[in-house]
Amino acid sequence: MKVPLFSFLQIFGSNQMHNKFISGIYFGSTLLCISLFYSCNSGESKTHSRIKSAVNDIRIVNTHEHFNTEADRLGSDVNFFTLVTGYLQADLVSSGMSDEELAFMTDNKNPDKERWDLFYHYWVKVKTTGYARCFSTTIEGLFGVDEINESTFSAINDKMVASNKKKGWFKHVLSDKSGIDVTIVDPLGKNAQNVSVYPSDFFVTVRRFDNFVRVNKNNVAAIENQYGESINSLPDYLNALDKAFERAVKEDGIVGIKSGLAYSRKLYYEDVPRDKAEVLFSAFKNSSQILNSIEQKMLEDFMMHQVIGRAEKYDLPVQIHTGILSRNFNNSNPIENTNAIHLSNLFLKYRKVKFIIFHGSYPYMAELSYLAKHFPNVYIDMCWMYIISPLAGKNYLEEWLLTVPSNKIMGFGGDTSVEWAFGHSEMAREIITGVLVKMVEEGRCTETDAIKIAERILRENALEIFKLKKIDNEWRRAL
Ligand SMILES: [Zn+2]
Repeated sequence: MKVPLFSFLQIFGSNQMHNKFISGIYFGSTLLCISLFYSCNSGESKTHSRIKSAVNDIRIVNTHEHFNTEADRLGSDVNFFTLVTGYLQADLVSSGMSDEELAFMTDNKNPDKERWDLFYHYWVKVKTTGYARCFSTTIEGLFGVDEINESTFSAINDKMVASNKKKGWFKHVLSDKSGIDVTIVDPLGKNAQNVSVYPSDFFVTVRRFDNFVRVNKNNVAAIENQYGESINSLPDYLNALDKAFERAVKEDGIVGIKSGLAYSRKLYYEDVPRDKAEVLFSAFKNSSQILNSIEQKMLEDFMMHQVIGRAEKYDLPVQIHTGILSRNFNNSNPIENTNAIHLSNLFLKYRKVKFIIFHGSYPYMAELSYLAKHFPNVYIDMCWMYIISPLAGKNYLEEWLLTVPSNKIMGFGGDTSVEWAFGHSEMAREIITGVLVKMVEEGRCTETDAIKIAERILRENALEIFKLKKIDNEWRRAL
């Protein structure tokens, strides 16, 4: 400190001092101007800082998850490998992990050290993917561990185990950490037909009627069992479908329906006449002859129209899985069958139904741009998308905002585990911020408009489309 101070005093007393002092003022004020334009440590513009802060403040409506209830989670065996969700497993398999290795890694009975070694061997190969980024972001944000390696494995494992031992973890992660107000759950497994188990202060549910569309002996027997009536004809079957809808809407309070049939068939549903379907159903139910694949498809196509017709009657939005098939390693359904473009005849016939196209139809985003732009009843849901490909999420959010009305885009659905909903929401907020800042800086919208768009895609659109309201601390569809 001594030398600079001495030099400063020397300069201050000289002729040179004046010039240097003035140029110092210029230099200082230039720095000040730059720092007023850019915030101190991040190099962000002020526009960026303001939009980021506004986006971070938005309480999200999370349009899509499958997770079980917290009560289910508290009773299960949770550890580090619970965080290695099916998505991350898919990348590990894609990088070379064998079926046997995957089975070994996911089996809680095997020794931790060997499971970790197996995980780490493939982890280093997938570290740059969107799934890996969500995994790392989740671990850093929830457990304060910023590096995943052998020396941090035990700490992460211990923190994950401890977190899931007491009530309140779901609220902490979803509400406090992720800023999510309400989550729309599409329950799988044991809760699929029992959607009322989700607490209504944080969750609402949709229900699948795919079991009615997939006409086979097991499904029909289960439906007979559930609704207490024997089914011998198509009218009987449609009667049961009516009961299922009535129960789901009036007793379970579903806010929409979901179809996941893209995992097993082509999304084109032909409009089959009822008399043809009656003949096919009788043949299926009462003869020993099995329907051939064309007849089977016709019967299922007819049933899908019946399901959509009932969604229209009850004014329920229809969420449809399109595009990417998670962990569909055996390729049972070719990816081209899942393109949302195959659904066009449904969009045309059921004009009052809101069709919500999931996952940005990845990798068929360009077709979805057209569909959502063209059809007033087609909506884009970006659930899962930012972690499938952060870059596609960013590029297509921009494309859609420049192509499709912003009231038709829903910008966040975790579609994974409770913990990953945090990492995914962080990535979504960052990507949305980046896209909106770019649009403002390119003069495509004002800063005020950008913030309004963020509120729409993260919250308002979903509230409007699903007619959601929180009344007496309970989320429900308010008609
Ligand atoms: Zn899903």
